Amino acid sequence: MTGPSSPIWHPFTQHALHGEMTMIARAQGAYLYTPEGRRIIDAISSWWVVTHGHCHPDIVRAIQTQAESLNQIIFAGQTHQAAEDVAAGLLKLVPPNLKHVFFSDSGSTSVEVALKMALGYWHNIGAPRRRIVTMEHSYHGDTVGTMSVGARGVFNAAYEPLLFDVGRVPFPHPGSEQRTFAALESACRNDRPAAFIVEPLVLGAGGMLMYPPAVLREMKRICDAADVFFIADEVMTGWGRTGTLFACEQAQVTPDIACYSKGLTGGALPLAVTLCSDEIYAAHYSKDRTKTFFHSSSYTANPVACAAAAANLKLWDDESVQWRLADLVAMQDNAIAKFRDDSRFANVRRTGTITALDLKVKDAGYLASIGPKLQAFFAERNVLLRPLGNTIYVMPPYCVTQKDLDDIYDAIDAAAGLA
Ligand SMILES: *Cc1c(COP(=O)(O)O)cnc(C)c1O
Repeated sequence: MTGPSSPIWHPFTQHALHGEMTMIARAQGAYLYTPEGRRIIDAISSWWVVTHGHCHPDIVRAIQTQAESLNQIIFAGQTHQAAEDVAAGLLKLVPPNLKHVFFSDSGSTSVEVALKMALGYWHNIGAPRRRIVTMEHSYHGDTVGTMSVGARGVFNAAYEPLLFDVGRVPFPHPGSEQRTFAALESACRNDRPAAFIVEPLVLGAGGMLMYPPAVLREMKRICDAADVFFIADEVMTGWGRTGTLFACEQAQVTPDIACYSKGLTGGALPLAVTLCSDEIYAAHYSKDRTKTFFHSSSYTANPVACAAAAANLKLWDDESVQWRLADLVAMQDNAIAKFRDDSRFANVRRTGTITALDLKVKDAGYLASIGPKLQAFFAERNVLLRPLGNTIYVMPPYCVTQKDLDDIYDAIDAAAGLA
């Protein structure tokens, strides 16, 4: 039994308002199964991590094989083939300026590493810069550093006095892009920031807010002109979610630093990487040991997680993954179309495989009273959706079928009646 009798404290869960947790016994493809055999469609890829589908056989096999020979090794002074395969494979896929791969084990830690790389660069070249510029509504993780560069709000109000101050540019809503560019230009000119960090094309936890590639490209141009590092947090947008392998591709943007995690192992095991340019690596490369990049986690580049990631990279070599992705983009576009002039919804939107729409309510926002009701309603229909307040989004694994999508959107259509 789980629920009140369990000692477990679950993430982002208000136990006083939540009933029993749903026990999941196994998962396959786009489905979760309870011990009683109830089948639930995973319409949010288990918090955006599962790309190809749960328990992909190639990834499962790679994990099994690796676990039998080397399942953990200190990564300072040692290396192993799975990590080398992941690093070499990544360099073939990412924008060309990214040359060095630092491993960690979650999206948050990959962002912490990115911030430390940027700050370390300016420190090591003897021209220290301390400020980070971020975008309104951004989310970069739940550690103190990543909360600092994220939006302030209900998620971090209790810790706010301890978070470091950052520069902020407004979200580029359609028609107000110039405000964003002007704010970024001014922050770059007046504050001499170390870096600008941004989620390319889609801001995830901040409400699935979307902006076009041209805006991303212009923000990169502004940072380049001001000699400010551009950090792309592709923790959520990476691995096909926006229709291309990485979101930056659509804007032909090469970041100075990029963070990848969630789909890196196909969603099988925790792992993250932070990639950087030669310039940033070179500022830490020195006979002077004080210039070392002082960062590690105990499980840096865990071999089993790396084997899962290497298997995932191999899957991306297979053209059929690209076709499936293109099919899903078309199916999602089609599915969302009928909501575009439905007066119960606003801001009906899609980028690649991700769709989102805002149910019109009086108390919009993350704490909208409709949020938990929606979630419960979807659960009753065996659809796992987790709205961000009144914002409902669909981010399925790539193996989802048309029938599954029909069930998901039928549930959304019916749920609008709750408002
Ligand atoms: C999920 C997420 C993170 C944090 O990743 P964790 O693995 O949960 O620590 C960071 N940035 C973005 C854009 C994310 O969506």
